[in-house]
Parts: sequence; structure tokens; C-alpha cells
Amino acid sequence: MSFNKKPLIINLAITGNVPKTDDNPNIPITPEEIAQDCERCRELGVSTVHVHARNEDEEPVPNPDLFAEIFERIRERCPEMIICSTTSGRVYTSFEERSATLELNGIQKPDMASLTLGSNNFAREASVNAPQMIQSLAERMLERKIVPELEVFEPGMIDYSKYLLKKNKLDRPLYYNILLGNLGTLQSTPLNLARMADSLPDDAEWGGAGIGTSQFEVNCQSIAMGGHVRVGLEDNIWMDQKKNQLASNPKLVKRLADVADAMNRPVASPQQAREIIGLGPPPGQG
Ligand code: ZN
Repeated sequence: MSFNKKPLIINLAITGNVPKTDDNPNIPITPEEIAQDCERCRELGVSTVHVHARNEDEEPVPNPDLFAEIFERIRERCPEMIICSTTSGRVYTSFEERSATLELNGIQKPDMASLTLGSNNFAREASVNAPQMIQSLAERMLERKIVPELEVFEPGMIDYSKYLLKKNKLDRPLYYNILLGNLGTLQSTPLNLARMADSLPDDAEWGGAGIGTSQFEVNCQSIAMGGHVRVGLEDNIWMDQKKNQLASNPKLVKRLADVADAMNRPVASPQQAREIIGLGPPPGQG
């Protein structure tokens, strides 16, 4: 893993599957709301955006046309932004649905796509990722030259990524999100974060994410350790531990950019983030 203090990649999990505007009215739902929020957060230091699509009832949907519209609008407003598509199986479960955005082309093609390396429980439901599903998604990403955003919730998922590397089902560059503090998996302690980061392949880049109110602490620990961060309303809708103050994406990003500044850690531009991760120019533009 990298403990070098390169410029900080702030990866914004902007909408997610779960929170609704009844929970927090600041969650961007429509393609235009997502693109606008993304632009505001870009100005505050975001270089990567992790995208889910919602229909008019705010339900997560695998509709590739809707994703394409979101990606296009983001690229119009933030041409260099790294776009990462979800392939989550929490709500829709077939390979065709989960991999639909991997087939998009031109400026509609995502730079990266999420790849969760095992099954796990969330507070109210399971996220099922059978071995064949993980391998099929990984293979399609390789064929399409879409870099996986490797989602790991516990140490065994890192081991599984090493197995896939050995079997040539995964390739470099390697970018991991270490997600801690979810009710069904590894809790968020500094030692858990350090152990997870320390067990990554040597040349991997990684970002720390905390689910719920652990988000800010895990993000700060990651900044101090030389990791990157994933932040945003997908994982956490509150500014404070007591859940008094609702968050917005720009507020969450601004707070982290200020922490990074206080720690003398420059924030990566999208172009710098592309170099750090090992990505080429944005699809359809290079
Ligand atoms: Zn997600």
C-alpha cells in the first residue's frame, strides 16, 4: 500500500442507493442535481465521483440511459472529473443489470466502476456478491479497460483481490476503498484501518471510508496516514456524531479539504488524481 503523502484524492459518493430526500433534502437525485452538486464539490477539491442513478421515486435503478445522462452532464460541467459507476447488487442483482454501464461508450463511458470483493451484510439487508459475479464483473472491466474501484469491507476481501490478481482476473492499476464502520462488517478503529491498509498490495492506492457517523474520523485517519478518502451522502447524512446537523456534499467536502490543508496535504486536481491512480484521459476526449 502507499503511505506516501501524495496529493489527496477526494472521492465523492454523491447519492448512493439508500438515503432519500425525506432523510436529508440535500441528496442530489436527478441527473441535473447530481451534475450541479458535483460541480460545486469539484470547486472544493473533489476529483472522483462515485455515481448511482435514481428514478423519479428516488429508487435506485440500473437504467444505462439514466447513467449515461448523468455521466454526460458531469463531463459537460467537469470535463476532467474521474467518473466511477456503481455495479452494486444490493437492489438489482443480475449480471446484465449490474454491468450495464460498463457497455457505455464515448463520453458516456465511466473511467472506473465499483467492484465489491465479497458478500456482506448492511444494517437492513445483504449485499450478495457470489464468486462468479465478482469474476464476471472484473473480467468485463478488464476487457473494457475500466479500472475497478475495489470495495473492501474486511480483510478477507483484500485476500480475495490478491487471488484474482494471481489468476489474471484483475490487473493494475489498483485502487481500493477501505470501508469501515458498517454494522455487518469490520468496525472503524485506527488499528483496523492500519491493518487493512498495510495488507494491500505494495503498489496499491487506497482511500478510507466510514459508514454513518464514523465517516469523518476514518477520513481524517486516512489523510494522516497518506491514504485518500471517500466521503459523501451515500455513506453518511450527518455532519456531527449526535445527528443534529444534516450534511450536504459540499459541506462534507469542504471540511475535509480544510483538514487536509491543516495537515499540509495538498488536494489532488482531477488531472493529478488520474496520474496518481494511473488512469488515462477522460473517455471520449483522449
Ligand atoms: Zn455506491
